[in-house]
Amino acid sequence: QVIDLGFDFDNSYANELEGFYVSCQGEKAPSPELVKLNIALAEQLGISNRDHAQLAEVFSGSEAPQGAAPLAQVYAGHQFGGFSPQLGDGRALLLGEVLDSSGKRQDIQLKGSGRTQFSRGGDGKAVLGAILREYILCEAMHALGIATTRALAVVTTGEPIYRTRYLPGAVLTRVASSHIRVGTFEYFAAQGAEDKVKQLADYAIARHYPELKQSSQPYLDLVCAVRDKQAQLIAQWMLVGFVHGVMNTDNMTISGETIDYGPCAFMDDYDARALFSSIDQDGRYSYSNQPAMAQWDLARFAETLLPFIDEDTDKAIELATTEIKAFWEQFRAHWLQGMRAKIGMMTELDGDYELCEQLLAAMQGQAVDYTQLFRLLADDLLTDSNDAESLFTDSSLFMQWKPLWLVRLAQESLSAKESVELMNSVNPIYIPRNHLVEAAIEAAEERNDYQPFETLVNVLAQPFTRQQGREDYAQPAPASFGKFTTYCGT
Ligand code: AMP
Ligand code: MG
Ligand code: MG
Repeated sequence: QVIDLGFDFDNSYANELEGFYVSCQGEKAPSPELVKLNIALAEQLGISNRDHAQLAEVFSGSEAPQGAAPLAQVYAGHQFGGFSPQLGDGRALLLGEVLDSSGKRQDIQLKGSGRTQFSRGGDGKAVLGAILREYILCEAMHALGIATTRALAVVTTGEPIYRTRYLPGAVLTRVASSHIRVGTFEYFAAQGAEDKVKQLADYAIARHYPELKQSSQPYLDLVCAVRDKQAQLIAQWMLVGFVHGVMNTDNMTISGETIDYGPCAFMDDYDARALFSSIDQDGRYSYSNQPAMAQWDLARFAETLLPFIDEDTDKAIELATTEIKAFWEQFRAHWLQGMRAKIGMMTELDGDYELCEQLLAAMQGQAVDYTQLFRLLADDLLTDSNDAESLFTDSSLFMQWKPLWLVRLAQESLSAKESVELMNSVNPIYIPRNHLVEAAIEAAEERNDYQPFETLVNVLAQPFTRQQGREDYAQPAPASFGKFTTYCGT
């Protein structure tokens, strides 16, 4: 009989968007085992069944649960600037949608549950290391207050998956406010299927931006709404030192959630050119290129909607171009607001942008731990000391900057103590350090030991709170860890 997890499915994508997906089933896993369940999220989603064997059947894709309508979504995308007209869920399966305890519609999606019609040459599978990595990183992002897909469960399948060697297979259950991407629009636009693009836009408006239904320019306003969300999101990435690594248009959500934790990483040492992905030799998606790349992706999105923005194509282009250009200003405003808070300032004064830029310039090339610096600045402010200086190889630019900052702080109505509180509320102590993530993966993969993974996940759940005995989790990688490189599509 059909397994019931307690999910109350309401599958609007399956019901309203015929032609935007193919129905399919997951592959049977040889011996599925639940190795992680995100209990808080499970409760939020109404999962009442706690039978681990049944959870493992469902979250491996072996059995579709009661009420699910499993499907693979079709999409296209610009990958590293080149257009791929046919992508789609090649190793993902949307089980359906549920309304969470706050009434929010959430996709329940499996990643790594086997081949679909869109798998092309791929096996549709995922390996445990990559799945644990996504779990750790997306949950850390969530705890940092950054919009992201969530991780609900990890199941090992019992099947060895061949990559460069055999590795344990696993499936991630991902939760997202939807999986509609810029690439979903591009798929239909590239085929000249204008009615389908419009149908998708109306669906996206109803699902994510219902206030636009009343607009006299709903499709231009949809471009603006997605632009606003992305401007804020990319600013937040930059403020915590996150490098996404593969900002292709199929990895940009319409909801504004961070998606696709493949080659991403947080930087330890500040470097404007930080880049971790093995397949991005040109640095297209390097740290400081991220806003420009987001704007580029948004332009591809706007292009798909031109026919509905104005009948006169030139007019439509003009309107859309103006809005896409405004991305930069919006990004800068979000970033500056965040950066002010990071250095203890609330008021907005002329020269703030330059002051923030000067700090980053002082850090460039100095092997300064980005995360530690902002906490040390706060400590120094409170105790009138100068420990932050020791982070710099050459601190001369920093020592020129610091008095300018102190003068600027004096113009705040905040006391030093209040500035420090502000700083410590936005500057994390704990980020998912690459060496810790790798150690957690290795323990799970090689020794079936999930303790390091569990501990890391727990520490990262409270990134702003100093935790007793967890000093090591706030430290950068030892030199022996070397340069960190990430690999896509594992
Ligand atoms: P990604 O790099 O994860 O954004 O994936 C790009 C495209 O490749 C998507 O259409 C994926 O579904 C597909 N893909 C990635 N890995 C696999 C795999 N192992 N098997 C089948 N399709 C895959
Ligand atoms: Mg992707
Ligand atoms: Mg250092």
